[in-house]
Amino acid sequence: MRYPCVEIDINKIRHNARYLVDYCGNNGIEVMGVTKGVCAFYPVVKAMLEGGVKKLGDSRLHNIKALRESGFEIPIYLIRIPMLSEVRDAVRLADGSLNSEVNVIKALSEETRAIGRTHKVILMVDVGDLREGVMPEDVLDVVGQIIGLPGIEFEGLGTNVGCYGGILPSYENTKVLVDLAGDIEKRYGIKVKTLSGGNTATLALLEKGELAPGINQFRIGEAILLGTDVTNFRKVPGTLQGTMKLKTEVIEVKVKPSYPIGEIGRDAFGNVPVFENKGPMRRAIVALGKQDCRIEGLRPLDESIEILGASSDHTIIDVTGRPEIKVGDIVEFGMNYGAMLSLMTSEYVGKMVLNSP
Ligand SMILES: *Cc1c(COP(=O)(O)O)cnc(C)c1O
Repeated sequence: MRYPCVEIDINKIRHNARYLVDYCGNNGIEVMGVTKGVCAFYPVVKAMLEGGVKKLGDSRLHNIKALRESGFEIPIYLIRIPMLSEVRDAVRLADGSLNSEVNVIKALSEETRAIGRTHKVILMVDVGDLREGVMPEDVLDVVGQIIGLPGIEFEGLGTNVGCYGGILPSYENTKVLVDLAGDIEKRYGIKVKTLSGGNTATLALLEKGELAPGINQFRIGEAILLGTDVTNFRKVPGTLQGTMKLKTEVIEVKVKPSYPIGEIGRDAFGNVPVFENKGPMRRAIVALGKQDCRIEGLRPLDESIEILGASSDHTIIDVTGRPEIKVGDIVEFGMNYGAMLSLMTSEYVGKMVLNSP
């Protein structure tokens, strides 16, 4: 076994996918399984499909390419609006993409010519989170510019909240999409097939009965992968947590003062560290650092252990409450979305699959 290592419970992830596909399906909503949080790691994606996911989304063509190379033939969408420089690959690797720039959609149209295939476009609408999307008042005009483009299928509208501006999903902001779809159908006489109303955070609206009727797709990553919803700061009902566990190895254990000795300058990341003097404590170092992980997103599974801090390659923990811990022992952590993302991206962190069928 190589440490540090993320241990992934595939059965729990399959359960989460199945539960959410059924729950959303019963409400007329399809689930696009979002794979970027695990860098489209094959066993996890396979578990999503076994759980009933019929469509995938990833923000990076790099991951979509890997999915195609491992033989996935189901529809895959590029869910970060495409860079102009990746349009050529986007139409070849992805069945569709989320978009907000007419020039990019025109470039996608041009590229489809060479391959003789259509590319589906979901036009993103900014309902207030101020990340990607066309402002609502411009949607009708933009749709008018893209519906005639050769090789482009205008599939519908999408929106995203809870990511940049931290805006929570609401009846009002999901209703914006539904109303716009009505306007488009009236003005242009076309059917707006897909209303991609949100992500994990939007599940809470559905549970409360406050989702605008007409929304028929959610793009879900976190709730499948971790069973959590960071925007609403909660566990998602019906899903399992503890899907992923980080295992790290102890490389030093010593009793040391809790306050550094000497004049305090800046740490390796340019911050001035602040310490509380708690007297001598038993401190352990595990072989894991900021190069591998967003340390703030970790939580020791043993609640008597506390994370004191980290540098690039070392994480220091207070093990005063666990005097038996020694060099070579393994300390385990739970993680949030940010920590998962960094760990799955790090080449230095092993990935181990539990319960592979
Ligand atoms: C990451 C992402 C999602 C998935 O969000 P979760 O909170 O993980 O469910 C959905 N849509 C877009 C555009 C994204 O970038």
